[in-house]
Amino acid sequence: MQFVTRVGCIGLGPFNLSFAALAKNVPSVFLECWEARKKFNWHPGLLLPNAYMQTSPLKDLVTLADPTHPLSFLSFLKDKGRLFTYLNAKQKQVKRWEFTAYMQWAAAQLTSIRYNSEVKDVLWSQEKGFCVRTSSGMHYVQNLVIGAGLVPYLPKFVERTTIPVIHSSRFLSWDFQQLVKKRVVIVGGGQSATDIVAYLLDMDIDFYALTWINSRNSWWSLDDSPFVNELFSPRYTHYFEHLKPHKRAHVLRAQRYADRGISLASLEALYEKLYDYRFREKKKNICLLPSTEAIGFSTENPKALICLQKEMEKEFVVQADVLIMATGYKNKIPSFLKSIKENMLFEDPETPVLDAHYKVAWRKKWHAKLYFQSGVKRQKGIAEDNLSLMSYRSAQILNDIVGHAYYKLPDQKALQFFGHPSINFFD
Ligand SMILES: Cc1cc2nc3c(=O)[nH]c(=O)nc-3n(C[C@H](O)[C@H](O)[C@H](O)COP(=O)(O)OP(=O)(O)OC[C@H]3O[C@@H](n4cnc5c(N)ncnc54)[C@H](O)[C@@H]3O)c2cc1C
Repeated sequence: MQFVTRVGCIGLGPFNLSFAALAKNVPSVFLECWEARKKFNWHPGLLLPNAYMQTSPLKDLVTLADPTHPLSFLSFLKDKGRLFTYLNAKQKQVKRWEFTAYMQWAAAQLTSIRYNSEVKDVLWSQEKGFCVRTSSGMHYVQNLVIGAGLVPYLPKFVERTTIPVIHSSRFLSWDFQQLVKKRVVIVGGGQSATDIVAYLLDMDIDFYALTWINSRNSWWSLDDSPFVNELFSPRYTHYFEHLKPHKRAHVLRAQRYADRGISLASLEALYEKLYDYRFREKKKNICLLPSTEAIGFSTENPKALICLQKEMEKEFVVQADVLIMATGYKNKIPSFLKSIKENMLFEDPETPVLDAHYKVAWRKKWHAKLYFQSGVKRQKGIAEDNLSLMSYRSAQILNDIVGHAYYKLPDQKALQFFGHPSINFFD
């Protein structure tokens, strides 16, 4: 008789969906995935019709772990009868709506998913392992994989304002009529802000003025060149995770346009739109402000947004009726882990110590295993916040859970040698 291990996944974004897809074939794993939503979705608040993926469709749920797996993006296209049409469309990148449809197709084939199941708490039992309390009941598992995502980041000053504020993660739930004849301010210099401005122009919204505040000193494009792309590889992850924490933080800052930049195609399309808007339509109500940070509202005038031109070190005021914050996401240890948090080892309050298999290091020995998929960039490197290594990482975690290489993950070559070239110089 085969020993079966019970595994629970908390949160079903792409990362744990990848895990569930790969676990489908593993007979020694009994899996349950708890997801708060009523169906699979991928950042639905910003699922704009023209938004493109920033990553190759081969970085799908399964391919980099097992190119023959039936839940690959190519299998999806074949199943939907559009493999040839897809090739004929010659898209440089897949649109986000299509990749979302692919993931929904894969999710529909998995019996391990429990929707409408928000995890409230994880408790520890010496006899039974983790006890997961969800909105639909209690469950005991020996292994837990956390994929609850990141949380939207808003600077403190917006909490006190009285004007409407929306974070980009909820953008599509906005009633766009609220923007008509208004002085709209958008804050953020990345892909989300760029997609939102392009969308507002396509919608032909009749705003009074649009001010775009970008704390970066330009609209930097995503570096998608081959040498930089080697940072999104298992070899680089292996190198990065062995650096000292302060070095890792420094390295990540230096690499930020390799994952936080804007895709060149989006920038070119938007520049062209803005050009037409200004010179064909002769409209002058859009203003782009680089090197500028929104720092607060005036106490005398609740619509006066105080901004700092960072390079000139000078403050000025922009009038805002509505604020759109495309200010990204931050790491936070999920509150449902509060009961077991004290047995976890941390590098800093939001960064647990993880081993090579993404497993948490315990203070006092527990026989159960806790893995993190979401929010591990600080420990593992630039590839971890996006889809690049998700299937490879999921396979690593699965292999660790079952105790052998169910998925063979042979070393993949890189043209750069990451590390000190004392051994294996030419490998
Ligand atoms: C707009 C946007 C576009 C992006 N585009 C790309 C791209 O093109 N390429 C790329 O590589 N990366 C992209 N990324 C980055 C990356 O793909 C995402 O951040 C990815 O979604 C991370 O997956 P995840 O599974 O960790 O978390 P998420 O996708 O955030 O999913 C987390 C899930 O956990 C659930 N959850 C949370 N708490 C609980 C709980 N207590 N109980 C039950 N369920 C819970 C949530 O409902 C959610 O479904 C993009 C990010 C954004 C915001």
